[in-house]
Amino acid sequence: MTSYQERYTASLMNTFGPPRLVLVRGEGAHVWDADGREYVDLLGGIAVNALGHAHPALVEAVTTQLQTLGHVSNFFTSTPQVELAEKLLELLGVGAGGGKVFLTNSGTEANEAAFKLTRRTGRTHVVVAEGSFHGRTMGALALTSKAAYRTPFEPLPGDVTFVPYGDADALAAAVSDETAAVLLEPIQGEAGVVVPPDGYLAAARAIADQHGALLWFDEVQTGMGRTGGWFAHLRTGVRPDVVTVAKGLGGGFPIGACIGVGDAGTLLEPGNHGTTFGGNPVACAAALAVIGTIESEGLLEHVTVLGQKLRDGLGADPRVTEVRGEGLLIGLDLSADVSAGAVSAAQEAGFIVNAPTPGRIRLAPPLVLTTDDAGAFLAAWPAILDEAFAEAEA
Ligand SMILES: *Cc1c(COP(=O)(O)O)cnc(C)c1O
Repeated sequence: MTSYQERYTASLMNTFGPPRLVLVRGEGAHVWDADGREYVDLLGGIAVNALGHAHPALVEAVTTQLQTLGHVSNFFTSTPQVELAEKLLELLGVGAGGGKVFLTNSGTEANEAAFKLTRRTGRTHVVVAEGSFHGRTMGALALTSKAAYRTPFEPLPGDVTFVPYGDADALAAAVSDETAAVLLEPIQGEAGVVVPPDGYLAAARAIADQHGALLWFDEVQTGMGRTGGWFAHLRTGVRPDVVTVAKGLGGGFPIGACIGVGDAGTLLEPGNHGTTFGGNPVACAAALAVIGTIESEGLLEHVTVLGQKLRDGLGADPRVTEVRGEGLLIGLDLSADVSAGAVSAAQEAGFIVNAPTPGRIRLAPPLVLTTDDAGAFLAAWPAILDEAFAEAEA
């Protein structure tokens, strides 16, 4: 244990368990720890570091904006804020005027804004999927299914129905004319990268329409290029009423957004909601730099190609029973509950990966991950599994 790990334990609340490493520096998809060891970062701060670490475009945008105008209250606006809102609407395919944006500092706050927006329909009932993760604040937690996260904090805001993810019949049975919104992740991230059957999002759209309910997609993890498109739902052609984003949006600078499409964009009225930091010029400049770099470096195409290569290569090992995901959001089911051992073995071998469940590995690397780094991980993967499985047998 380094002294920083001891000092962490002494001075930070124990909400996350002991930190795995003390990281001191990063560049591209690589990070270095306090002992000078180098790692390929295949987790990307949990789908956050879209441009990797210390990308010059992000550093330049944040530095320049901070030197120019760092914060104004929401009594005022700034040019990056307006440009970002317009850009998000363009990427969503509705264009400026086709919707409205509320900017936040995190994913849970984006979902809080959206949750409050749904209440402005005059209805309170929300239908959500089992396995969902929508955040840790009380509102977002009420919409999150995991009992271990919820139970210690009950009572939570009510009138929420959970249905099995991917089951359109169960969804149809749960939604009524009293339902304010149906909330779904286009791919469930925290559950371990769970992809719904084809047609599920379209069925959700039809069910919501039938009952006058809003359709809300939580793209906090799947949005901003992660799956090879700007938003994971775009390839289905389904148009949601509300979309929430965060994680990759600022490339590591904290920012999130709640986007209301069409009339859903005007449900929140003056006085209904607010934030001090949300939409501050530095965060908006960071997000504009992330989006601009994804465009200028052709990263959507890169993510699609490299994601396929990784899924094919990693899934070729017989100890991988299922490979899921799109682009650079990848879930790997192992034939035994050895994912914690695989995380440790990977770290020993110089790779950072994540275990969302005992039998699953998740990868969400920077979108700038190089083909060489991906190749190095593919080469190391069998030995990582050897060690994880051997340790489990010992
Ligand atoms: C991470 C995540 C959130 C919460 O975002 P925070 O920034 O941690 O508050 C919400 N929804 C989904 C789908 C997420 O993956």
